[in-house]
Amino acid sequence: MKIKSIQSVKGTQDILPTEVHVWQKLERTIFQVMSKYSFKEIRTPAFEKTELFSRSVGEQTDIVSKEMYSWIDQGGENLTLKPEVTAPVVRAYIQHNLGSISPSVKLYYIDALFRRERPQKGRYRQFHQFGAESFGSENPEADVEIIAVASSIFKSIGIENIKLKINSIGSKICRDNYRDELRKFLKPHLRKLSDTSKIRFEKNPLRILDTKSPDEKALIIDAPNISDFLTSEDKSHFIEVKSFLKDIGIKFNIDHHLVRGLDYYNRTIFEFTSENIGSQDAICGGGRYDNLVKDLGGKDTPGVGFAAGIERILLALSSDEKIQNPDIYIVGFGNKAIKHVLICAEALRNNGFSVNTDLLRRSLKSQMKEANKTRARTAILIGDKEIEQKKFQIKNLEDGKQYDIPFDSLIQHFKSL
Ligand code: AMP
Repeated sequence: MKIKSIQSVKGTQDILPTEVHVWQKLERTIFQVMSKYSFKEIRTPAFEKTELFSRSVGEQTDIVSKEMYSWIDQGGENLTLKPEVTAPVVRAYIQHNLGSISPSVKLYYIDALFRRERPQKGRYRQFHQFGAESFGSENPEADVEIIAVASSIFKSIGIENIKLKINSIGSKICRDNYRDELRKFLKPHLRKLSDTSKIRFEKNPLRILDTKSPDEKALIIDAPNISDFLTSEDKSHFIEVKSFLKDIGIKFNIDHHLVRGLDYYNRTIFEFTSENIGSQDAICGGGRYDNLVKDLGGKDTPGVGFAAGIERILLALSSDEKIQNPDIYIVGFGNKAIKHVLICAEALRNNGFSVNTDLLRRSLKSQMKEANKTRARTAILIGDKEIEQKKFQIKNLEDGKQYDIPFDSLIQHFKSL
């Protein structure tokens, strides 16, 4: 009887060797750009106490109300696989008193996240994000730097057709007033709203502005704008954000109905979208969260950050990135050659070359075929004759030229190529 194989869980994906090189290229770009902006990497655990997310992201949000992978462990603790990274980073910032090192702390991460959403193109149950969090400054230049670092990564990796939308949702008092006005506006249309929007009307009407339904989108065009509810401090903060963005050449559109689904944001919020990836077009979202550190038990510390979805960024990339090929393939034939292949491969690798060898003791012909298939630039051939004469046969696989070199000048030879 054939044993049934096990498939991966719905909404999760394997990143195969044929596609991992684009992930690695993006990761390298993230490391380089973050370091140019003086952000330092932080890595937090895969799971946290459930309370961390319910207290920060918000009980009424989609994430906390229906998408978290939570369980009670054997010790009776309520735990959750992280559905977002800002709360864990804030938890670590408070727990390790990172604010004592410097009044301005700039952190970044690359991480795997878990949300039980309905899977579709660009929406998965395990997905990956990179992001940055800047603690300590409530000034608009911190918002602008956060937007600039995201934008710089997108530019460096070569994503085209992306747009930046920004808005200010002000401070809590503005949102409370706005929420009331929005409810007044929506009330006469309540019957026409979807079930989800009806629930949002009660719990968090701002989220209705996030709707994907064309009818509801048409309805909210005439909804009041939060910009009319901002305090004068919030207004001047937003004016400066816009003006500094212009100063450094970052283009943006203002979207008065941009809200974002997480509770902890205040003042500036933003979203980058791509035209190339279909309905799930948001590749990055972020904003200011001046009360989050305090709300999670830390000292009153302002913060601003972003999170970008790696899968969606890779969908938006028209990638002709080449797979990394080995520099050299060593072909050994005959039992005596095995140890020489090993010694030669180690010496070359220790000198910075990437080398592949045959582990299956295949024929000379099959090994040469493999060397060509892996697109190695050079093959080194080692057989009884070569061992006896203490010379390697070298074949340039790009132009077909073949020649010998003595054993002891191998490294020197490849370094001089
Ligand atoms: P959020 O944490 O919801 O603000 O999302 C930030 C970014 O993560 C989004 O702009 C998407 O690019 C990405 N993202 C969010 N949810 C998913 C998901 N379920 N699958 C893939 N990417 C996602």
